[in-house]
Parts: sequence; structure tokens; C-alpha cells
Amino acid sequence: MKQNFEIAVFEGDGIGPEIISPTVAILKKLAALSPDYTLSFADAPAGAAHYARTGESLPKASMDLARSADAILLSAMGLPSVRYADGTEISPQIDLRKALTLFAGVRPVTVRAGQPTPLNMPDGKEIDFVLIRESTEGLFYTQGRGEVTKDEARETLLITRDISEKLFRFAFNLAQTRKDTGRGPGKVTCVDKANVFRAFAFFREIFDAEAARHPDLIADHAYVDATALWMVLKPWDFDVLVTENMFGDILSDLGAGLMGGLGLAPSADIGLDHAVFQPCHGSAPDIAGQGLANPLAMILSAAMMLDWLGIKHDNPAMTADGKRLREAVEAVVAEGKVLTRDLGGTSGTADAADAVAAALGLV
Ligand code: NAD
Repeated sequence: MKQNFEIAVFEGDGIGPEIISPTVAILKKLAALSPDYTLSFADAPAGAAHYARTGESLPKASMDLARSADAILLSAMGLPSVRYADGTEISPQIDLRKALTLFAGVRPVTVRAGQPTPLNMPDGKEIDFVLIRESTEGLFYTQGRGEVTKDEARETLLITRDISEKLFRFAFNLAQTRKDTGRGPGKVTCVDKANVFRAFAFFREIFDAEAARHPDLIADHAYVDATALWMVLKPWDFDVLVTENMFGDILSDLGAGLMGGLGLAPSADIGLDHAVFQPCHGSAPDIAGQGLANPLAMILSAAMMLDWLGIKHDNPAMTADGKRLREAVEAVVAEGKVLTRDLGGTSGTADAADAVAAALGLV
């Protein structure tokens, strides 16, 4: 019997609607051809433009929809021109992370043969690793609540046993899945600063305890500064990296840089019960409304959603469709004929999305 999955769709701001619309169209076509699953989509209004119109950035009805959905597909939210009274931006994507306890920020970094990258890649090398950024605590714990006086500013870093245990279990399970599917050697690297901070020695101790439960996987440690160096010098050596929120925030942009920019960087924020899939980039107001936005990071995020749903609900056909969708994007990039301007091409959003659909045999 076909399993049905409800997807809450946050189309967001700026280029958000332009990139999510062709993504949902591809998902609908894939699902229509599948004997194993169906997808239904429900719009969840939220974001900066919605706030400017209504005074609400994340209405309760949209939050309820997100909570009840099987997965959440989100484009990008926020506009520099729309702000709360305290001067900060509207960012419901961060509110969702906190409200749904989405502790694992999953940022895959892949550079396949033929894909543009600022690195000089040795022949035959490809990059394929996953950075997991803890997304609910760390140095973001006091976000918006830091203490600032005339002479001092303080923010608090929080690492809890509860979230760290969940985070490391997720990281080792991901490394196991990657090993089982031939994508990695089964290695998890804990990225910290345990040489200096007691909080990171604590983080590392919890990592080691989880590592002991996975004797078939390799557990490794690296300091965050050295990790930045190695991400540039030999990124092909990494498999799964797991780190604190702020370190992950910075390293994930370095990872996007390895992929030639934000236009090919997908992400997922995953908890025990809920998950949000969205590109790493923002709402790109400078190119919004012109049909120029690269939809590939959004489409790759949708591929991650199919993969996650398939594994969670034991629906291998869905996981297989996620892999096909990712490989179709990789094929379009490697071929290099239909690329948007951020990747050095001249194509528009619709052409790039159509090329992916064609690579999947959907047109
Ligand atoms: P941005 O990622 O929106 O844009 C940075 C640069 O990359 C711009 O030149 C933009 O044109 C380009 N770019 C981004 N995505 C692109 C795409 N798909 N195709 C082609 N070019 C692309 O970052 P920003 O300008 O710092 O932020 C703009 C707004 O987005 C802000 O309001 C910010 O708060 C918000 N933002 C949201 C998220 C999110 O929703 N997760 C993430 C980052 C920024």
C-alpha cells in the first residue's frame, strides 16, 4: 500500500517562492510515478513579507502545520529591510529549530568530478562529507539575550548531556548508513576546542562514550582551527564531522565555499520527531523576482527530505528517489550546459529546474 506523507511548505521571502515552486513540481512528478508513496503539500505562511503585511512572523496555524507534518520544506526567510522593533531580523527558520528541538544541522559537502570548486582537486579525488552542526545550544544559547553594558559584553555557551548524546547518536547512525551504502568509510570526527575549554572536554567525553557503542565505526577528534585548515588542504579525508553550533555555523560556510558557493549547498535541521529541509543560502533580495536564482540547493534539500522520510518510514523507494534526485542535480552540474549565473552560466531558474527534471526523465 502507498504511504502518504504531508509536507508543510514555507515558501518564504525574496527568491524563496521562485525556487520552491519548481522543487515542489519535481517532487509531485516523482511521487506521481511511484507505486510506493504519495506526497501532499500544504502552504505555511510565515516570514518577513508576511510580518510586514500582518504583524506576525510565524502564525500559530503555520507552527501547528509544521508540527503535524511529516516533514517541512523551507526555502529562505528574512529581508534586511523588514525588522522587529529591536532591530533584529525576522527569522522563523531559527524559531522552528528551537520550537521543534532540531538539534542536528546536517550540511553535506560534495564536489563531484566536473563540478566547479576553488580547490585544485587531485585527479580522481571527489569531496563527499557531512558536517553536523548542533543547532539548539552551544554559543547560540543566549542569542538575543546576551548581557551588554557600557564596558562589557557576555554571551553564554551551553553544552548539555541530553542534546550532546542525541547529537552524537545521530552522527554515528549517519556514518553507519553512509558506510552501508558505500558513501563513506564509517568515520565520525568530533570537532571541538577541548585543549582550551572545559565545556569542550565535556563534549568530547560524551562523544567518546557514544563512540564506544559503535566498535565498527572509526571515532576521531580534531580541533576546530585544524579542521578549517584540513577542509581546504584535504577535504576528501572527511566522512562525518560533528560539532558545536557556532563552530558548525562557520565551517558550513567554508564547506559551501568548497562547493563553489551557496547555490549548491543543501541542509537539513533534524530532531527526533521533526525535520526542516532548506538550502543554506538566504532570500537573496538582490536578485529576487528576476528568474535568476539557482534552484539546485533547494532541490538538493528536497532530495535529503526524500532520503530522510524513506529511512524513517522504511520506504526504500523514497530513499532511492532521493538518491536519483541528488544524482540528477550532480549530472546537470557536471555537464555544465545549463547553469545559473552564480555557477558561471547564463541560465535562469526555470531552465535549471527543467534540466534536473529532464535528467530524471520526467519531461
Ligand atoms: P543570501 O544568501 O541571501 O545572499 C548572498 C549572496 O548570494 C547574494 O549575492 C545572493 O544574490 C546570492 N545568492 C544566494 N542564494 C542564491 C541562489 N539560490 N542563486 C543565486 N544567487 C544566490 O545572504 P544575505 O544577502 O546575507 O541575506 C539575505 C536575507 O536572507 C537576509 O534577510 C538574511 O537574514 C536572510 N537569510 C536567511 C537564511 C535562511 O532562511 N536560512 C539564511 C541566510 C540569510
